[in-house]
Amino acid sequence: MSPTEPPFSIAIIGAGIGGLALAIGLRKQNVPCKIYEAAPRFDAVGAGIGMGPNSLRAMELMDEEFAKMYDEIKVGNGFPEKLHEQFEMLSAEQGFGSLNGWHGGSVSHPKFERSSAHRKALLEVMKSLIPKGTVNFNKKVLRVDQTEGKKVYLTFCDGEILGFDAVIGCDGIKGLTRGVVLAKRYPEEIAAKYCNTYVYRHICTMKEAKRILGPYAENAKWYMREGRGCVTYPISKGEEVNIVVFMRDEKPWKGEQAAVEVSREEMLSDFKGFDQRLVMLLDNTQNTKPCRWPLFHHPNTSTYYEGRVCLLGDSAHASSPSQAAGAGQGLEDALVLSRLLGLVKNPGQLETAFQVYSSIRQPRAQAVVQESQEVLVAHFLVHPRFGRDIQKLTDDANKRLPLIWFHDLDADVKAAENWFKALTRQMDMRNGS
Ligand SMILES: Cc1cc2nc3c(=O)[nH]c(=O)nc-3n(C[C@H](O)[C@H](O)[C@H](O)COP(=O)(O)OP(=O)(O)OC[C@H]3O[C@@H](n4cnc5c(N)ncnc54)[C@H](O)[C@@H]3O)c2cc1C
Repeated sequence: MSPTEPPFSIAIIGAGIGGLALAIGLRKQNVPCKIYEAAPRFDAVGAGIGMGPNSLRAMELMDEEFAKMYDEIKVGNGFPEKLHEQFEMLSAEQGFGSLNGWHGGSVSHPKFERSSAHRKALLEVMKSLIPKGTVNFNKKVLRVDQTEGKKVYLTFCDGEILGFDAVIGCDGIKGLTRGVVLAKRYPEEIAAKYCNTYVYRHICTMKEAKRILGPYAENAKWYMREGRGCVTYPISKGEEVNIVVFMRDEKPWKGEQAAVEVSREEMLSDFKGFDQRLVMLLDNTQNTKPCRWPLFHHPNTSTYYEGRVCLLGDSAHASSPSQAAGAGQGLEDALVLSRLLGLVKNPGQLETAFQVYSSIRQPRAQAVVQESQEVLVAHFLVHPRFGRDIQKLTDDANKRLPLIWFHDLDADVKAAENWFKALTRQMDMRNGS
């Protein structure tokens, strides 16, 4: 350990967006960490990801280079007049609403700029910002054991056992750290709940999307009808279009919380009633086997830590993607937690850092989870308050999203730091130091 390094050790489980973001933030605070990842290499779902202003601000506050590099890979809407639009609501039915006026619901804000990227490009940026050797692959964690609030021991699939002063579980929606944190006090919250929705995911070239959709291809759209919908937006610097089809499903999800292959006929039966252009865009079975991906979430997570084990990202607050906010919440977590860990002077203060982190982050992140589920229902046009009323739906989205996008993260960081300093001062006084 170099003289400037803090006298405690941190392990992160999981090298997804959450784990890598935390490592980026910690590097800027001179806090070394090790990441243990089950997969043999970095792996991103072939899909896009949208980033709101809060996500960009979190990147900037963690490491300015992160924000600059994201700037290089992002893309907005194709038309300059759509710069500030998150998406346009329009009908998924024949004519995209041109026959009955059900189009033009502009979800936008003058201070918002649409931005998305390919997940693979985002992971490339993130891994370039952490020191070489930080991520250890093929290291699936099988057990996490805490000893009376002191060391935390990780048991790996290869039999190795390593001890750390603290462990951050960035192991995603099905991660095992969730059980470690919640088992004692909130066991009923551990399992993720089905959002009563599954999705189809697909990427196609912008060229192909333009051939099929014409000018609709170049800007973000949410095509809606009762119980289903389709989101499209440009990624890969405008070379590709990301597509997600949402299907409401009243039945419980059977079997594993994982994607299932279906036949082309089953998939096409889900698209009944869509404009033929959408069906043509979505029928990509020459390239891939159609898959239904179930959406699960964590509507309740009462605490994000237990002793020296702490949750970050989807392991804490997986949400439905209807507000494109899940990864952004993980970035916010990483910002607040890395700043707090940067203040920790000895292992005895680690739990205090987790306590403050959980108190600051849990109310906001859980509100995003709850609201994202409500928005999902609204966008299926079955919400009791909005029904099919495009004006009400647009107004509602325009009220909700700014609360996510323009939240004052600088104030969160300041509040967290001040609170931590006050608590540790009290601890020092009690200990007579
Ligand atoms: C269809 C869809 C669209 C979305 N769109 C957006 C969007 O536009 N904007 C946005 O902000 N968010 C979006 N999200 C949400 C976003 O994808 C997630 O919030 C984010 O990827 C979660 O990152 P994470 O690092 O917390 O978890 P994960 O990405 O799940 O990473 C967890 C990592 O931990 C590893 N791991 C798990 N268990 C172990 C173990 N025992 N030992 C070692 N390693 C382990 C896994 O292999 C994995 O690499 C979307 C989600 C979906 C489903």
